[in-house]
Amino acid sequence: MKNNQCCEFITYLNDYVDGTLNEKICKVLEDHMGECNNCQIVVNTLKKTVELYQNDTHIQIPEETRKNLFLSLNLEEFLD
Ligand SMILES: [Zn+2]
Repeated sequence: MKNNQCCEFITYLNDYVDGTLNEKICKVLEDHMGECNNCQIVVNTLKKTVELYQNDTHIQIPEETRKNLFLSLNLEEFLD
């Protein structure tokens, strides 16, 4: 089962991890994360991945990692 808040969360996820997301939206997402295990896992995994690649001037989550993560959480419909 999916809910609308998860949809929104996934839409803003990349910006959130990058730290470029609007403060208000950040708050909403963090509230949602407090109650949603799926989104917690997504963010934690993405943050770890970003840390691994932070030496690159251009931070980009590898497409393969992102895909596998979304697939494992049955969120593949949010992949662009
Ligand atoms: Zn969620």
